[in-house]
Amino acid sequence: MPLTLTSLGSASALPARNTYFTAHVLNIRGRSFLLDCGEGTQLRLGQLGISLGAIDHVFITHLHADHVFGLLGMISSMHLLKRNAPLYVHAPRGLEKLIEFYFDFSGKQDPSFPIIHKVVEGTGMFPVMDGGEALVSAFPLNHGVPTFGYLFREKRVRKSEPRSVAYCTDTAPFPELAGWVEGVDLLFLEATFLEKDLESAQNYKHCTARQAAQIALDAGVGKLLLGHFSSRYKEAPAYLAEAREIFPDTELSTESRTFSVPRRLIAT
Ligand SMILES: [Zn+2]
Ligand SMILES: [Zn+2]
Repeated sequence: MPLTLTSLGSASALPARNTYFTAHVLNIRGRSFLLDCGEGTQLRLGQLGISLGAIDHVFITHLHADHVFGLLGMISSMHLLKRNAPLYVHAPRGLEKLIEFYFDFSGKQDPSFPIIHKVVEGTGMFPVMDGGEALVSAFPLNHGVPTFGYLFREKRVRKSEPRSVAYCTDTAPFPELAGWVEGVDLLFLEATFLEKDLESAQNYKHCTARQAAQIALDAGVGKLLLGHFSSRYKEAPAYLAEAREIFPDTELSTESRTFSVPRRLIAT
């Protein structure tokens, strides 16, 4: 059964030509999980043929605009489509105020479906969801506001190793991170800056491509995906060259690219 991660957008805080804000769809054995929900996410889902009805769980890393401002538009559309099924939004504390604000002042009635905010907060690695397809854990990142990375580990796999995907944005490097994502098959890690702008990365609490690659190397991951690129650079390939010097199995998680994690059979 497939396990794929699809990029809906790769931009960071400011829009740039031909890019969209950060969001990804993780598909585990036919079930879709939305990771972050930047502005325009519902349009990107439509462009890629992914139905809003397929989204039951959204995982928000933090409440900066480029990760969450698509949520209200998506919820509004779900309401207009008369959705019944609950929508679970895993996000740091404070998200509920954003949703309440919208429904209080938009002149709409209550949403046609339950919106269940599962507050994500904690230290170390802690469980977030025990679903049919995957166990999901979270861990704090280092970004100046409450921000969490998510680790998805496949469940109930016969004759093959459970596959795993970690999603980490936004964050500066910190010592525990490599340990928390150790050995995952696929690591999505932000690389907002290039090493020549290390000072900006430190000031805004982001990673450079080189730092992201070093974390992937330290963690021994299968493949590194970079995203959340600054609009200051015109050429994305510079990220790739910088990261591959340290971690060769790196790819850019740019718009509409899908990455698969193959099954690995257990040797007997
Ligand atoms: Zn961001
Ligand atoms: Zn941020």
